Amino acid sequence: MKKRVLSGIRATGRLHLGNYLGAVKGMLALQDDPNFETFYMVADAHTITTPYNIEELRRNRREVILDYLAAGLDPEKSVIFQQSEISEHFELAFYLSSVTTIAKMQHLPTFKEKVKQYPEHSTMALLNYPVLMAADILLYKGDQVPVGIDQEPHLEVAREIARRMNQDYGTDFPEPTRFATEGEYVPSLTGEGKMSKSVEGSFINLTDTLDEIKAKIAKIPTDSGVGTLDQNFDPPREGPLFGVIRFVELFQGKEKAKEYKDLYVSTGIRYGDLKQELSEAIFNELQPIQDKRRELEQNPEYVNKIIAEGAQKARTAAQQTISEVKEKMGLK
Ligand code: ATP
Ligand code: MG
Repeated sequence: MKKRVLSGIRATGRLHLGNYLGAVKGMLALQDDPNFETFYMVADAHTITTPYNIEELRRNRREVILDYLAAGLDPEKSVIFQQSEISEHFELAFYLSSVTTIAKMQHLPTFKEKVKQYPEHSTMALLNYPVLMAADILLYKGDQVPVGIDQEPHLEVAREIARRMNQDYGTDFPEPTRFATEGEYVPSLTGEGKMSKSVEGSFINLTDTLDEIKAKIAKIPTDSGVGTLDQNFDPPREGPLFGVIRFVELFQGKEKAKEYKDLYVSTGIRYGDLKQELSEAIFNELQPIQDKRRELEQNPEYVNKIIAEGAQKARTAAQQTISEVKEKMGLK
């Protein structure tokens, strides 16, 4: 049997470079590998774990699907669907919560960060986020999970839950592993933390124009352009030079990044020129995605059909797992 793959993106906005490099690139690689069966969803139910606007959620569910298709997810090769349409996700999440302790969930860094971001919204849904994510993956017996490095703690939880379920109930869940890409961590444009849909000013969307990209890149904080580097240029994930150099590495290659690092320790980097070239390199990569998206926007019926067919295929796989789990847990 082919190994299964599951990944998803929250419906909190259009996709940005972090989502593309950290998640979608991995999703594409596995979609094109005949050894895998790939399930890719818009994680709309995960959106309600933090404060949201109803109309925006409705719109963003669609935006994520359009971005997926524009970026190259292929409904002939992958099951593309909306999480909330498959109620088995919530059913399995409840079953899995019976082998998950509250203490473990409260101590996750991802939980603590979101509580810091939204102190008034420390809800059960937020606490349950990793359990729902484990359910997303295990429902399809997911083996590989193409997601960014920020999701590693959640994958660890999913593995623990899979082990517990297998031990206590004799299920046959694989222990899912993260399928990593080169862009597993794309920094925020603000110079602090990672690029995130829900952090204003942190991101470049796949749909941004060259002018928008230039304006955003111009705002990345930089230093004087001259200084010292430690030997391996292995600084923390923060700081003025790290951000721009990381973007250069990702969009113009390691060689180019090395040139800048050499300049940094000799005559100095002219950030104006660097940012101009970098903006163009980013736009060049995005242009074909934007062309494809415009085509898709002209064809809403086609997109509706993909979503409907995706739901059907996902449901079939989901029902199979739920039936097995109920049997093993004594609910059938
Ligand atoms: P939100 O702020 O709403 O949480 P987000 O930008 O963090 O949005 P998610 O929907 O949470 O995006 O994550 C979707 C996928 O994109 C996940 O696989 C996640 O690991 C990946 N991802 C998110 N941000 C980055 C980033 N800055 N670099 C690399 N991968 C990322
Ligand atoms: Mg996130």
